[in-house]
Amino acid sequence: MVINLDDTNTVGKIFLTELRDAEIQKDSMRFRRNVERLSEILAYEISKQLLYTPITVQTPLSEATGHKFKNNILIASILRAGLPMHTGFLNTFDKAENAFISAYRMYNNDGSFEIKFEYLSSPEIDKKIVILVDPMLATGSSMIIAYKGLLEKGTPLHTHFVSIIASREGIEYVKQFIVNDNATIWTAAIDDDLTAKGYIVPGLGDAGDLAYGQKS
Ligand code: URA
Repeated sequence: MVINLDDTNTVGKIFLTELRDAEIQKDSMRFRRNVERLSEILAYEISKQLLYTPITVQTPLSEATGHKFKNNILIASILRAGLPMHTGFLNTFDKAENAFISAYRMYNNDGSFEIKFEYLSSPEIDKKIVILVDPMLATGSSMIIAYKGLLEKGTPLHTHFVSIIASREGIEYVKQFIVNDNATIWTAAIDDDLTAKGYIVPGLGDAGDLAYGQKS
């Protein structure tokens, strides 16, 4: 149910190290590109678990057996930090359908926060493979608010919840919404701690700001 890319030796470990490194983070183009590259690896790993249907194609010389995905794939991302992940997944699953969810943290004066769900742009998701991406699975609330929003559009065949770094707490929270093995949690690293403001430690900081600049 939980697959951590960091348990395997891949080039993904190098990309993750660069993402965490505060010096390298100063180059936002490299930050976005590393998120994209890690997402391409995660997408490839997910592709090993999908079902394929044989099809016949015509080469210049004869017929050959090829394959297509058995089920339609939909990539859903949470704005704005999810955007470079979305690109990485779409680079791999290039015919996938797309959904975007706007959800953000609204902080109270005492530092606590609530997730505000604002907007969903999505086709129907019934019987599709849904890949829901958010780089930082901290408390898990944004992921689940986005998931619940998507469920208004139908019942997916299977949902892949994908992050770059997940906290243990976030993983436990998301697990509660998985019934009958209808979902898998993927991440490129699992970190132990969360700050009072819900930031993952050691984590990498604010993924949205690092990719697209600070907000006012
Ligand atoms: N969102 C981020 O960008 N970073 C965290 O550590 C947690 C949530």
